[in-house]
Amino acid sequence: MSSQLIKGKEISASIQSELTPVIEGYLSSGRKINIAIIYFGNDPSAESYIKSKEKTFKKFGIAINLFNFPETTEKATVLKKIHELNTDPDCKGIMIEMPVPGQFDKLELFSEIYPSKDIDCLTPYNYGRLLLGYPGPVPATAGAVIEVIKRSGFELSGKNVTVVGRSNIVGKPLALLLLRENSTVTVCHTKTKNLPEKTKQADIVVVSAGKPKLLGEEYFRKESIVIDVGINFLEGKLCGDVDYDNVSEKVKAITPVPGGVGPVTSIFLIKNLTVLMGLSK
Ligand code: NAP
Repeated sequence: MSSQLIKGKEISASIQSELTPVIEGYLSSGRKINIAIIYFGNDPSAESYIKSKEKTFKKFGIAINLFNFPETTEKATVLKKIHELNTDPDCKGIMIEMPVPGQFDKLELFSEIYPSKDIDCLTPYNYGRLLLGYPGPVPATAGAVIEVIKRSGFELSGKNVTVVGRSNIVGKPLALLLLRENSTVTVCHTKTKNLPEKTKQADIVVVSAGKPKLLGEEYFRKESIVIDVGINFLEGKLCGDVDYDNVSEKVKAITPVPGGVGPVTSIFLIKNLTVLMGLSK
């Protein structure tokens, strides 16, 4: 039995084809959609995430406005910008790219964004809705993982899913979304004992640890479906958290890095946008 390679680009293209008429319909009446991204300093990973978001939004004819503040910027200056964007009728989405400098309390900063413009699900309001099971935007990577699994034809209801990682932007919201899908969820982290036992017992393993090639073949069985969220650089090359070369032929299905979850994540921001604008559910 050969294993299935899950192609993120194809999944992303199919979501794009569903969302394009929705956005086109809105723009066709002369209305505008602008998205604001606030970021600090010149962090290379933030800049590369922003570039990929710009590319995605451009495909839909959506304009991105970048607001780059020096790392030493005072709180009041950034808050003023967020307040301006909150009341700008053409601005339909506000994102704040990590890392945020130390003088800011992240929660305080995110709380300033109007929930109706929170396309990255940063605000406590939208995060609370997610926790309580109400509709709304969801953290894009977590939402993308669900799309990748379902659109690859795999069931989530009644399945055992192990998530490696419990961050606020990936592992934790993903666990909530998986519960919504009726999966039985195990969430692992650095204090988890006997990680291979937890991953081997699962039908689906989602790895989001941020450690290059952390999980080798001993963490999986031949029926495992492996979703690798990790984006790491090792010896100048992009790689995931799973040792792909040694694992890919020994499991039922796997996402590559690059080309797996990544391409679906940025398209998911458009999905969040349409949800917030009341254009889709
Ligand atoms: P993070 O905030 O550093 O969280 C990593 C999580 O993994 C933590 O919960 C940590 O446990 C756990 N962990 C780390 N090493 C572990 C180990 N040896 N065994 C078990 N658990 C371990 O990272 P993140 O923001 O969630 O991102 C994770 C990865 O996803 C990164 O590579 C990032 O670049 C990538 N990412 C990809 C996308 C995409 O679109 N594909 C989007 C966002 C992030 P503790 O809580 O105990 O520390």
